Amino acid sequence: MFEAPRGTRDFPPWEMDKRRYVEDKIRNTFKIYGYREIQTPTFEHLQVFTLKSGDAIIDEIYSFKDKGGRDLALRPELTAPVIRFYVEKLQMEPKPLKLFYIGNCFRYDRPQKGRYREFTQAGCELIGVDTPEAIAELIALAYNILRNIGLKNVDLHIGDLTILSTLFKKLGISDENKKEIIPLIDKEKFDELYLFMQNIGVSKDEIEWFLDVLKMDDISKLPVSDEIEEEVERLKDVFGFLRDIYSIDCKMKLSIVRGLDYYKDIVFEIEAPILGAEKQLCGGGIYELIPLFGGREAPSAGFAIGFDRAILAAETEGYRFPISTIDYYIIPLSTSLISKSIEIAQILRNKGLLVDVDLMRRGIGKALKYAGSINAKQTILLGPDELDKNAVTIRDMVTGEQKLVLIEELKNL
Ligand code: AMP
Repeated sequence: MFEAPRGTRDFPPWEMDKRRYVEDKIRNTFKIYGYREIQTPTFEHLQVFTLKSGDAIIDEIYSFKDKGGRDLALRPELTAPVIRFYVEKLQMEPKPLKLFYIGNCFRYDRPQKGRYREFTQAGCELIGVDTPEAIAELIALAYNILRNIGLKNVDLHIGDLTILSTLFKKLGISDENKKEIIPLIDKEKFDELYLFMQNIGVSKDEIEWFLDVLKMDDISKLPVSDEIEEEVERLKDVFGFLRDIYSIDCKMKLSIVRGLDYYKDIVFEIEAPILGAEKQLCGGGIYELIPLFGGREAPSAGFAIGFDRAILAAETEGYRFPISTIDYYIIPLSTSLISKSIEIAQILRNKGLLVDVDLMRRGIGKALKYAGSINAKQTILLGPDELDKNAVTIRDMVTGEQKLVLIEELKNL
């Protein structure tokens, strides 16, 4: 007996129904915002990922040598592959370039609820523009995708790494100390942060001021110095568009750091509080990767939504995804009527209806029970009496009501 590898999942038909339904919703939302779908390979050269994150990432991903001795990796995310693709083939496309993807990703994570070793991300990259209206549209898109999936409660937080860096500079924090501080900020371990800053000689007043700013959720209260004035204005504009035009509730959170490895300026996260520990559904922002891949500098921003977690969150909130059902289940009441049943099935299938025929040559009781188990909306019973009248009996599986319908009329169903 084999089991699926740790951290991977098999999806039965009822799960796939849900996943395809959500995929359609996501695809459609991207499209109505002017994004076009792309696909990249499931594996890339390992360097595509080590380039931006360093060799440390190798411990967290699936990497291997192929038979030609090349170092490859299963993609842990899609931003780097999309930028690799952009630099290789799409740089000459008119801007802005709005690209989206839905694809599986692989990480050597410790599996738990909402955390898998193979999972799906739905995301996009916006290349060539970073005006406040562009970033507001990007954030509104992420938010609306999650709402369109059926989620009710999501928290949207927006941060700014340029502002955060200026705060670091103001406090005279060295790059080395930043490396220690950033994970503490990311995890909101403010007590530990306090102690660390105290140890490196930051004054009590300055630490308290810094923590107050990190915890501030209203941009209008942010202390503005000359160096960050422009950035604060841009961030204010983004909030303005989101609140006033898109009617989206959002809060400032300067403690969003997103690893800091390639993001800059505005960053954002969307969480589903109902999920507890693994509540982060989406992360994104403005980043700089194109020059790293050898391309000509161009503004770029994007986000990635954890597809599996978004479904989990909607279901935990009580959302019931529609289930796909068979329109007609056809039951021949004797073996001599099998051919006629298939003929009728083909008439209905050619109309685009979802039709199944009983293939097991079983009695009506068992066939009806099966039709019920696959949620068939109606069954078509074909017996000798019906055939004498060139008709079939159609039974509504919900009400149990039956009616005689001429075969000729099935074309008009
Ligand atoms: P990241 O690329 O790490 O910013 O991840 C983007 C989103 O993907 C996260 O907000 C999660 O919702 C989702 N995600 C990341 N890692 C996993 C995982 N191991 N299993 C399921 N979802 C994940």
